[in-house]
Amino acid sequence: MIDSHCHLEMPEFDSDLKDVLARMSENGVTHAVSIGSLAQNERIEKTIGIAGLHDNIYTTLGVHPKSPYKDLEGISELFGKYYSKNKKKIVAVGEIGLDYFLPGISKEDFEKIKIKQKELFKFQLRLASANRLPVIVHVRDAYEDAVDILKEYVKNPDGFFGGVIHCFSSAERGIADEFLKMGFFISFSGNITYKKNDGLRAVLREIPDEKILIETDSPYLAPQSFRGKRNEPSYVRFVLEAAAGEKGVEREKLDYLTVQNTVNLFSLEGVGGFYPAVAYKIRNSVYVNLTNKCTNRCTFCPKYQGGKTNFCVKGYNLELKKEPSAGEVVSSVFRYYNFNEIVFCGLGEPTLRIEILKEAAKAVKNIVGGIKVRLDTDGLANAVYGRNIAAELEGLIDSVSISLNAQNSALYNSICGPQLNGKGIDAYASVLEFVKESKKHIKNVAVTAIDLPDVDIAYIEELAKNLGVDFKLRHYNDVG
Ligand code: SF4
Ligand SMILES: [Zn+2]
Repeated sequence: MIDSHCHLEMPEFDSDLKDVLARMSENGVTHAVSIGSLAQNERIEKTIGIAGLHDNIYTTLGVHPKSPYKDLEGISELFGKYYSKNKKKIVAVGEIGLDYFLPGISKEDFEKIKIKQKELFKFQLRLASANRLPVIVHVRDAYEDAVDILKEYVKNPDGFFGGVIHCFSSAERGIADEFLKMGFFISFSGNITYKKNDGLRAVLREIPDEKILIETDSPYLAPQSFRGKRNEPSYVRFVLEAAAGEKGVEREKLDYLTVQNTVNLFSLEGVGGFYPAVAYKIRNSVYVNLTNKCTNRCTFCPKYQGGKTNFCVKGYNLELKKEPSAGEVVSSVFRYYNFNEIVFCGLGEPTLRIEILKEAAKAVKNIVGGIKVRLDTDGLANAVYGRNIAAELEGLIDSVSISLNAQNSALYNSICGPQLNGKGIDAYASVLEFVKESKKHIKNVAVTAIDLPDVDIAYIEELAKNLGVDFKLRHYNDVG
C-alpha cells in the first residue's frame, strides 16, 4: 500500500513520528506522499527534511487554497528554490485547488475570496505544467468551478502531466465522470468508511479501479473505527479494505493496482516491483509503453508539439525513466485485471525493441492463453532490421494496426518525417510491404490514417480494400 496523501510535518506527529513510520511498515504501507505546504517556510523545510531522511517518503510543493501567502511571485520563487534542490523527492504540485467552505463569511467577502482562490489555483497549475509535474487537487464545495478551470488546464500547450482529485467527497457520479474524462485519478480517504456516506460509496463503486488512489489525509479524517482521533498513514489499510469491499475485489488485487496507479501518476521509481509509465489501462485494454524512441518524426505527433516534447496521454505521463525489460512489462500488465486486450503502443515505436516485444508477447500469452495482443506500429520494422519482422510476429500478435497516413511517398515523407530516408530507403514503400507481409502472418491487419489536410482518405481506404486489410480513420489530436 501507498498512502498517497498525508501531512507528516504537522505538529500532531512531532512527538512520535518514528513510531508512526514503524507502524506504516508493520502494516504493509511501504510508501507515503507527505504534502508540502509552500505557504510557510518552516513547514516546507520540515517536510523536505522528513522526506530526505526516509527513502520511502515523497513530498510535494503547493499552496492550499486556504493558506496565507505573500504574492504569486513569491510562490514561484519559493517553488524554484526548493524544487531545484529536491527533484527526486518532490513528485507533484499540491495540494492546490478551491475550498469554498467558508462558514459565517459575508457574501461580498466570499466573492472576493473566490476570485483570489481561482487566481492562485490557475497560477499553480501553470507552475505544474512548466515543471512537468502532476497536480494534487483539493476541492471542497467548489466542484463546478474546479471542473471549469481544469477543463481549460488539461488542454494547455505546456502539457498536462496528470493529476489526482484528492479526498474525493462528492456523492455525484457526474462530477467524478468529469474528472475521469479529463484523465484525473480520484483519491479516496477514510471518509468512505463513515456511516452517513452511502452516496460517496456508490460513486466509488462506479469508478474504474485503474483510476483510484487511496490516502489517509492524516492527521485528519481518521477512519470510522478511530473517528475523532489522530489519523496516521498505517490506517490507509482501512481505506483499502473498505474500497475493496465496496467493489467486490480481492484486497490484494486492489492493493497492487492502487500502488501501480500511484507509481504511474507520480512517476515513482524504486517502489519494489512497480515501474512507472510501462503499462496503463484505458477502457478494456492495457497499453504497453516499450520505448520513447521513434523511427519517424510525425508532424501530428502529440509528443512533439510547439517545439516541446510532451509525453502525456489521457492523464498518464509516458516518459519512461528506463526502458522496461520483458519481465517488467509482464508484471506491470498483470497488476491490472478485467481487461481483454494488450496493446503494444505508447509514445514511441514498439518494434524498435523487437526482441523485448516478442518476449513479452509470448509471456503474456503463456500466462493467459487466448488473451488478445495488438501492435500499433509505423510499419517500418522490416526497413529498420532488414529482415521480415512481420513473419517473426506470427502467433505472438493477433492484430496489427499500421500507420500508413498517406497516399504516396512524398506526402508520407512530409507528414511522417521518416528518419530512415537518408539511408536510401523508401519508407512509404517499406510500410506497404510490411502491410502485405503482415497479411500473410497476422490474423487482423488494419492500416490507419489521420484526417489531415492533403491526405486522401478515400484513396487510402480503397488501397486497404485492395490489399485485403481493414481501414481505420484516426482523428487529429485524439490519442489513446
Ligand atoms: S511514430 Fe508515433 S510516437 Fe513516433 S513520431 Fe510518429 S506519432 Fe509520434
Ligand atoms: Zn491534505
